[in-house]
Amino acid sequence: MGFMVGKGKGTMPWVDQINLRMHSIRRMVAPVGVVASVAVLVGLDSYSRRAEGSKISAKSSSQGEGIQALTALSVVGVGGVALCEGWGSRKSTKRIFKYSADDDYPYFSKWHRTLMRKHLTPKVYKQLQPLRTSNGFTINDVIACGTTCGYSVPRGMGCMAGDYESYSLFAPFFSPIIKEYHDFSPTSRHTTDLNPSHLKSVKDLDPNSEYVLSTRIRVARSIRGLPFPAASSRAARRKVESLARSCTETLKGDLQGMYMPLNDMDNDVNDDLIQRHICFDNPDEWSITARLGQDWPDARGVYINCQDLDETPDFVVWVNEEDHLRIMCLRKGGDIFAVFEKLVRGVNAMEKQMKEQGYQFLHDEHLGYVVGCPTNLGTGMRASMHVKLIKLAKLPGFIDLCNRMGLDVRGKHGEKDTRQSGIFDISNRHRLGFSEVELIQLMIDGVSYLIELEKKLEAGEEIDLEKEFNKV
Ligand code: ADP
Ligand code: MG
Repeated sequence: MGFMVGKGKGTMPWVDQINLRMHSIRRMVAPVGVVASVAVLVGLDSYSRRAEGSKISAKSSSQGEGIQALTALSVVGVGGVALCEGWGSRKSTKRIFKYSADDDYPYFSKWHRTLMRKHLTPKVYKQLQPLRTSNGFTINDVIACGTTCGYSVPRGMGCMAGDYESYSLFAPFFSPIIKEYHDFSPTSRHTTDLNPSHLKSVKDLDPNSEYVLSTRIRVARSIRGLPFPAASSRAARRKVESLARSCTETLKGDLQGMYMPLNDMDNDVNDDLIQRHICFDNPDEWSITARLGQDWPDARGVYINCQDLDETPDFVVWVNEEDHLRIMCLRKGGDIFAVFEKLVRGVNAMEKQMKEQGYQFLHDEHLGYVVGCPTNLGTGMRASMHVKLIKLAKLPGFIDLCNRMGLDVRGKHGEKDTRQSGIFDISNRHRLGFSEVELIQLMIDGVSYLIELEKKLEAGEEIDLEKEFNKV
């Protein structure tokens, strides 16, 4: 069928029926209340004019009090109706079935271990439950990906913003999460530094190409004024795609290439691009519950800086995956400076073109580049290297050591890949509160240190990761 009739949020049909009736009654009462109060006010006005002319007697003053009481009653009535309907407030106006925050509070099992679960206290939920952003995003939409499958997917957040406004409207929820994940306070300011010449160390980490297979830097960008993918309509998503297409069409020289919409793409071509790390994967249960997979594959696509799929692009733009845009540069080997330099040129060219079309990337003094997933706020940047660490990865405490150094460890095929192939995607864990240059430097230094340890193990040395852990 392809559609489903909504039954409302309640489990008891008679409760839904009562709610529905109450709503219809309120709807009927609203215009009657308005008409009645206008009539009373007009009546009061003409009465007082007449009374003024005939000098009001003691008798007529008691009539006046009656009229005042009537007026007050109708004002209260209209006010009540207005409140019920949510006029002039941010309160939900569209939900017919309203339940108390206590009854509506999510169920959390012992496997729900996300930051969302930790910070969505009943008090915060109660405060935020009636609110919705101008794109209609509610706290229930924010937490959907964490309540539905927070126990089965290895994602630590369990929440997603639907638009820029989500971060301010739902601040009692997002601020502690941002504080805990990024160690970044609500009064801190984020700094951006996209100047490759500011990198301190650009030495080749792996001159004989034994350990570092490839290097990639991606940045996430939102377009100001458009809802993020989780709250996007089809039209808004298509708008993002058309802006992305017209920006990429103007790229010249070594950035020039072609846009490939997913709508027209054969499955085998798509699979091949995914395997080659050029295209994003199809949505999984997590992205579908976060509403990132709506209408897939409509308005999704990939731009590559070549004209033939047999060539290997090194500049790529993803459109409408988890963010409006993910702009990246990826190359074999470990030449991080070349990768960063090309990425920055591409990002700047896209930004310039975006401005010429009357749009801009969404940037905020506090949060830096603002995007849907709180982990990506700030730089929106993940700088990664695929590194062969066969011996080191077998030692218990390997992941803890990396995390301690501010590094994230993923499988060779990205965040969904949990296989231990011996080749790992090592990247900067933080994105907010540090500049791009600082985070890339941290990744280079960390990878360099891990390679040193791997070499020691290969040479037969014993390594105590507990001691290494305390050193960093
Ligand atoms: P992100 O969320 O940062 O875009 P994912 O973990 O979802 O990253 O991975 C997206 C794709 O990018 C995957 O195919 C992954 O293997 C690839 N990728 C990430 N880092 C590198 C790298 N250093 N070299 C090659 N491919 C990479
Ligand atoms: Mg990803």
